[in-house]
Amino acid sequence: MPIKVENLSYTYLPGTPFEYKALEEVNFEIQDGEFVGIVGHTGSGKSTLVQIISGLVKGYQGDVYINGTNFQDKKADKMLLRRTVGVVFQYPEYQLFEETVEKDISYGPQKLGVPPEEIPARVKAALTLVGMDYETFRNQSPFALSGGQKRKVAIAGVLVMRPSILIMDEPIAGLDPAGRKNLMDLSRKLNQNGTTILMITHDMDSLAEYADRVLVLNKGRLYLNGTPEQIFSDREKIISIGLDFPQAASFAEMLRSRGVDVPQGIIRYTELKDFLIKRFGGRA
Ligand code: ADP
Ligand code: MG
Repeated sequence: MPIKVENLSYTYLPGTPFEYKALEEVNFEIQDGEFVGIVGHTGSGKSTLVQIISGLVKGYQGDVYINGTNFQDKKADKMLLRRTVGVVFQYPEYQLFEETVEKDISYGPQKLGVPPEEIPARVKAALTLVGMDYETFRNQSPFALSGGQKRKVAIAGVLVMRPSILIMDEPIAGLDPAGRKNLMDLSRKLNQNGTTILMITHDMDSLAEYADRVLVLNKGRLYLNGTPEQIFSDREKIISIGLDFPQAASFAEMLRSRGVDVPQGIIRYTELKDFLIKRFGGRA
């Protein structure tokens, strides 16, 4: 089991007037190969949670196990954690720093002791994964690229480590619809190739479409944990904690309120389209 979180609590600035309980008694497990979304209002503790799982924030209460290892344990191999868990931060493009794309993506593998002769092939594979041509981009300055390309290079810099768990904090924020779909499709492809995905996003439609399971945080507590169908079965519950509801599911509710017998469980565009065609006729 790749991730197990037990009774996790975290307080920022404890013992000061600014003390803030960001996480309280959070419990969940994630199985190998799952695609899990994390949602919650701003300030609900999402980033804190994934930073703890990634080993970047310490001093928490409770236990976090990655593939059975508790990395708070002094004897645990921290390099193993770095190799297992890849993290794409919010706006990762701000972390690009090398003078060429190739050097930037090579930085992590060099640090982790990947044999130098293996690195170019890995960089090429990582760029290919994000849909960028190695020969075209390897010698370009990352700073000269478009916003979307910069983000892809930053993500390639994580994928090049071949993490078995990939954590992404709002990876599609600020991208246009095509860029969002592109990144969600990439995440699905990685997931289908065996990578466990943990993704924070505000985009409920993307989660309805791509996630196996959704964790909902509210004020530092795990509020809901279930499949998209379960999570999006109760509109009031989701709206009441300041979250959006998938558009297809909202549309289905609206039709229901106007007397159309839309079955429960329609949360995706494709399902809504299929239902409408069946119910009212016409062609796709
Ligand atoms: P989210 O990612 O869901 O928006 P965060 O995990 O970033 O939430 O933050 C949870 C809460 O902890 C917020 O209220 C935030 O103000 C507080 N917080 C986050 N980082 C710090 C910090 N470095 N110092 C003090 N408080 C923080
Ligand atoms: Mg955040």
